[in-house]
Amino acid sequence: MSNLDLLARIGQSSPTEETEFYTPMPPGYRKGHHKYVFVLGTVMSGLGKGIFSSSLAKLMKDKGLTVAPIKMEGYLNIDSGTLNPYRHGEVFVLDDGMETDMDLGTYERLLDQDLGAANFTTNGQILSGVLKKERDGAYLGRDVQVIPHVVGEVKLKLRELAAKSGADVIFVEVGGTVGDYENSFYLEACRQLAYEEGEKSTVFVALTYILEPGTLGEQKSKAAQLGIKRLMEVGVMPHLIACRATNPVKEKVREKISMYTNVPMKRVFSMHDVDSIYRIPESMREAGLDREVLTMLDIHDRVNQGKEDQARIKWRWFVDRIGKAKRDVTIAVTGKYTSLRDAYASIIKAGEHCGVHLGVTVDFRWLDTTEIHAGNVEKRLADVHGIIVPGGFGVRGTEGKIECIRYAREHRMPYLGLCLGFQMAVIEFARNVCGITSANSSEFDPRCTEAVIDILPEQKKIEGLGGNMRLGGKDILIKPNTLAARLFDEATSINMRFRHRYEVDPQYVPTLEEHGMIFSGKHPTHPIMQILELPQDMHPYFIGTQAHPELTSRPLRPQPMFMGLIKAAIEHQHASPKTHHKQGHAVEA
Ligand code: GLN
Repeated sequence: MSNLDLLARIGQSSPTEETEFYTPMPPGYRKGHHKYVFVLGTVMSGLGKGIFSSSLAKLMKDKGLTVAPIKMEGYLNIDSGTLNPYRHGEVFVLDDGMETDMDLGTYERLLDQDLGAANFTTNGQILSGVLKKERDGAYLGRDVQVIPHVVGEVKLKLRELAAKSGADVIFVEVGGTVGDYENSFYLEACRQLAYEEGEKSTVFVALTYILEPGTLGEQKSKAAQLGIKRLMEVGVMPHLIACRATNPVKEKVREKISMYTNVPMKRVFSMHDVDSIYRIPESMREAGLDREVLTMLDIHDRVNQGKEDQARIKWRWFVDRIGKAKRDVTIAVTGKYTSLRDAYASIIKAGEHCGVHLGVTVDFRWLDTTEIHAGNVEKRLADVHGIIVPGGFGVRGTEGKIECIRYAREHRMPYLGLCLGFQMAVIEFARNVCGITSANSSEFDPRCTEAVIDILPEQKKIEGLGGNMRLGGKDILIKPNTLAARLFDEATSINMRFRHRYEVDPQYVPTLEEHGMIFSGKHPTHPIMQILELPQDMHPYFIGTQAHPELTSRPLRPQPMFMGLIKAAIEHQHASPKTHHKQGHAVEA
C-alpha cells in the first residue's frame, strides 16, 4: 500500500485508531482522473484571478474536457447575500439559489456553464461545517484543530466538487492574496492536496503584478518577486506565472521573474490590459499556456481536436466583432450605486453581448434618481434611447424611478424593468393609469393602504421559503401571442433566476389588466406575476420581469429581453430626431 493510500485510509479510520490526518474521500472520487489548477494571488487582490482562471478553464473546456471552477472566499459570511454591492460588486445568484461573488458570473459567462453551491465556498461555510461535525461527534473524540480538520474540510470540499462534476480539471481560485490570515488554511489545503494527489496532478498559478511607476517609465518586477517568494514560504512552488500589467510585459522583465522563481519563460505569461476580457483566452492560447497545462497535467490524450476547432470558430466570430460597431445607443440605468459599476456588472455584460450581436456599442448612462423629479426628467432622458430600472432594495430614489418609468411609458421609449424595476412599473401604472394614486410597495411604506407590491407570506409558505428571499432558477409560463412569447421564440415555459422578497399582490391583477397591462409570464401554479408588458399599440417595447435576466446572458447566447431592448433602442434612435451616431449626421430637434 502506498503512503498516499494509507493517508486516505487513515482519514476514514475507526474510532479507536489514533491519527494525525484527516483526509476523507467522497464516494465516486477518481484519484488520478481529476486534476487541479490552483490560482493564487500574490501582491494584491482585484487583479483578475477569476478572469485568468475562467479563461484557462474555457480553453480546456473548448478542447472537450469537463471543467469545474470553485471560488474560495476568505470572509466569514456563509454566502454573499448580505454583502453591500457598493463595496463588493453585485450579488450573483446561481441556479440553485446560492448567492455568490460576482466572479462566479465571469465563470458562467466565459464557460457558458451553469454553476451551483458546490462551486463557491467561504471561510464561514468551511468553519460552520467543521463545527457542525464536531457537535455531531464526527471527529471521534479528537481535539478539533485547523490542521488537520479545517484543512481537511477544504480538501473534502474540492474533492466533492471533483466527484460530483466528474471534471477532468478543477479550477480553484483562492480569494485574496498569500499572506492574508483569512486564506492561510486554504493555501495549506491546496498544498496538501497537491501532495496527496501526486505528480502531474496539479498546476499552481501565481498571479502577480508588474509595476510601472510613471516617474520611472519602466516596468519593475521586485514587488512581483517578493509576492511569489511569499508563496514559496508557505511551501508552494508555482508552475505558471501570470503577470498582470498595464502594458505588455517586457521580455527582460519576464526573464527576471523566470530566473527568480524557477518557472521557465514559456510559463511566464503577460496578462496586460486589453479592451475586452473575452480576448484573453485566445492570447493565452497564442502564448501556448493551454499546451503547457496539458503537459503538466499529462492529459494531452483527453483533447478532442474537432470540438476545439468548432468552439474556436464560434468564439472568434464574437471576439472579432468587439469594438467594431459604427453606431452607439445610449441606455440609461437608474442605479442607486451609480458610483460603482461593479454593482451592475451583469447588466453591463448583457448590454455588451447584445451590442456585439447587433453591431452597436451600448453606452450606459447612470442616473442617480434621488435627484430626478417630474420637472427635470425630460431633460435627463432627452437623448437616451432606452431605460433600464435594475434591481435594488430600499426606498431611496424610488420616486425618481417612477418618474423615469412614466416618461418611458408616455414617450414610447424602450423600457426594461429588472426585479425592482418590474415592481416600480406596476406601481407607476397603478398610480398614473389605473388611478390608484396611493399605490406603493410595502417595502417603501409599511403603512401603505394600496400595497400593489407586497410581501405575501402565505404564498411563500407554499414555496417552502418562509419569510425569506425567493432565490434561484424558477419556471415561468409564457402567455402565447405576447411580446414575451416572441422574444423567447414562442416558448411556452422558460426559466430565469430570482432574488426577491416582495411581489405583485394578485388582488390588483384584474384592475391592472383591465387598464391594459399584460402579465405575460406567471408562476406555473401560483398567482405570482413574473413578466409584465404593455400591448404593442400602447408601446413598442415596455417589459419588466420579477427575475434577473441579466444573470444568464452569455457572449454567444445574449439574453432575449436585453436583445429586445437594444433592438428597440436602435429603432427608437432612428425614429427620434435627437440622435447620436458615430458616423455623424446627428440632427438637433
Ligand atoms: N426589493 C425588492 C424585493 O425584495 C426587489 C429586489 C430586487 O430587485 N432584487 O422584492
